[in-house]
Amino acid sequence: MTIFQKIIDREIPADIVYEDDHTLAFRDISPKAPTHVLVIPKKAVAGVSSLEETDEHLAGKLLLSAAEVARRLDLHDYRLVVNNGAGAGQTVFHLHIHILGGRPLGWPPG
Ligand code: 5GP
Repeated sequence: MTIFQKIIDREIPADIVYEDDHTLAFRDISPKAPTHVLVIPKKAVAGVSSLEETDEHLAGKLLLSAAEVARRLDLHDYRLVVNNGAGAGQTVFHLHIHILGGRPLGWPPG
């Protein structure tokens, strides 16, 4: 079980900013920007590469939730990041979108 599953199950606390039937969003414990929120599906999916055809609706909901969170937090310029695999920086193997905002975000990322 991942730490994010424990947040979904309310076994450990989190600063939850949004929730609906399929997704949950909470502030990152170690923020990399003034606003750093993680949006996750309630379904246990390890990462983007584990998504299946039957997850089409869920994948769409995840992106829509990220947009809704940004609206609610009054973020206009922000970055969505999904790390897939340890070599890409993924440390929690429950699919999540990082929402980063509140500071200039250079491109390409360093
Ligand atoms: P990843 O590196 O897998 O893309 O991102 C995992 C993120 O989860 C990291 O930014 C890390 O700070 C965050 N994180 C890890 N454990 C916890 C936790 O217990 N609570 C919260 N809110 N965030 C966590």
